[in-house]
Amino acid sequence: MRIGFIGLGNMGAPMAHNLAKAGHTVFGFDTQNVSVPMVDQLPSARDCAEKAEVVITMLPNGKILKSVADQTIKHMKEGSIFLDCSTVDVASAKNVAEISDNYKIIALDAPVSGGIGGAKEGTLTFMVGGAKKGFEKVKKLFDIMGQKAVHCGVSGNGQSAKICNNMILGATMIATCEAFALADKLGLDRQAMFDVVSTSSGYSWSMNAYCPAPGIGPQAPSDNDYIPGFSSDLMLKDLTLSQLAAEDVNADTPMGELAMKLYKTFIEKENGSGKDFSAMLPRFEKKART
Ligand code: NAD
Repeated sequence: MRIGFIGLGNMGAPMAHNLAKAGHTVFGFDTQNVSVPMVDQLPSARDCAEKAEVVITMLPNGKILKSVADQTIKHMKEGSIFLDCSTVDVASAKNVAEISDNYKIIALDAPVSGGIGGAKEGTLTFMVGGAKKGFEKVKKLFDIMGQKAVHCGVSGNGQSAKICNNMILGATMIATCEAFALADKLGLDRQAMFDVVSTSSGYSWSMNAYCPAPGIGPQAPSDNDYIPGFSSDLMLKDLTLSQLAAEDVNADTPMGELAMKLYKTFIEKENGSGKDFSAMLPRFEKKART
């Protein structure tokens, strides 16, 4: 396939490289001067759109996505696919799908889980909203960039799945960290705490696969001085998107809201920016009950 890849940052660059390695012709565009092995850089997003059967975007937010969509979709061939893998607000994803429809382009919103490691190793999970026939057309690309792609329904549903997943993740990580800090203060050994919880009803991905306590469980950012991994800043972004969506549909999400507030405070007032989102544990360790 001829693929135009727009947004070649931490995630986009390795995803584009994996597609090129698998034999696809990949053109790239990024506003920063980047170079990705086997990916020809073009001077503009429009150039990518004109040459490609599939345009993939991996961009920071919905506003930038909409501006890139405005520059590209009208120059794409009828029947081709606009595949956005960024994490953005549900409303922007739906808006891009409407614009695409007007030009007979198939839009898919396909945010990912798995982080930079998953992007490099080609083990991402894609959650995909948009027409099933579009999903089927690019399934082989998902198979190269990831290990799993789930079709979640209509446009916007990929983003909905992503923010619901990350709302659970944020709240669960906070719960895991505060429980470790409580266990410390109760004099419980951390290894014993892990051995019990990871095989009991309190288990979760945060505890079992990404344990926030250094030296315990499988290798995780906590073992590397909380260098991300998945940063607190990106967690705050996703929790904020979840609360925007909850407001839009009048859903009661008190745990998600509190998780968002805690990460906001952590980033803005407690030096948490740039740290992995599991660095909530040292944050709780230091704090007394208020
Ligand atoms: P990044 O900042 O490293 O990359 C974004 C890239 O987009 C940058 O290279 C930037 O120069 C480029 N860009 C910005 N505006 C542009 C424009 N108008 N045209 C072309 N290029 C433009 O971010 P990232 O970590 O690669 O994340 C990308 C997306 O993936 C975000 O939506 C993020 O929420 C999501 N995501 C990230 C992770 C992660 O662990 N990093 C995990 C899951 C999802």
